[in-house]
Amino acid sequence: MAVGVLALQGSFNEHVAALRRLGVKGVEIRKPEQLQSVTSLIIPGGESTTMAKLAEYHNLFPALREFVKMGKPVWGTCAGLIFLANKATGQKSGGQELIGGLDCTVHRNFFGSQIQSFEAELPVPQIADKEGGPPTFRAVFIRAPAILEVGPEVVVLADIPVSSNKADDPNLALESTEGSTGSREKVIVAVKQGNLLATAFHPELTADTRWHSYFLKMVDEVGEGASSSICAVGGE
Ligand code: GLN
Repeated sequence: MAVGVLALQGSFNEHVAALRRLGVKGVEIRKPEQLQSVTSLIIPGGESTTMAKLAEYHNLFPALREFVKMGKPVWGTCAGLIFLANKATGQKSGGQELIGGLDCTVHRNFFGSQIQSFEAELPVPQIADKEGGPPTFRAVFIRAPAILEVGPEVVVLADIPVSSNKADDPNLALESTEGSTGSREKVIVAVKQGNLLATAFHPELTADTRWHSYFLKMVDEVGEGASSSICAVGGE
């Protein structure tokens, strides 16, 4: 199996390394035609406006949108989640080009700036059940986005208290939630919608490969579906 990793900017090397630990080849994607050589794609974390500018420069948006529309498995982590969202709000998100497809509104820098980055233990039953691992997942949030609204097709895999990175400084909570969260206590940080997976944090920066395994299982299931429909057609 080979999985494409969008390699314009950000933590693509770390995703390729995590895939390698699972015995899977990560194929770096920088040009539209390279997308034809893979059946699934990871969009890494990084800086989503920079990534968007590079994607535009390389004329990648039409091919990326087509890839998502075809139902091929795509996983966005952090900036990758922003890229996949139908709508982005928050600081400097106006006019930012997105791939879209994931029916949600994401707040780009919900948890604040670089210095408000943090780690949290997330209970994620879908992930924890795999490989007999611990019941929680250590999630690394770096200038992290959060999902504020989801459409009916979206399955929420994890949410987190709004104040997760602000326990010591109530002013920060006001700064980053202003005008967007109202009185909510939790925000969403991991979702699945059909063959799209999105996480606001960075599993590729940890030694824990359970999220990568989860995505590979999604990829496997699509492969099996495709081959069984070929069998069905062949059997007619
Ligand atoms: N908030 C960042 C952005 O807007 C993403 C941060 C990340 O990927 N670590 O691009």
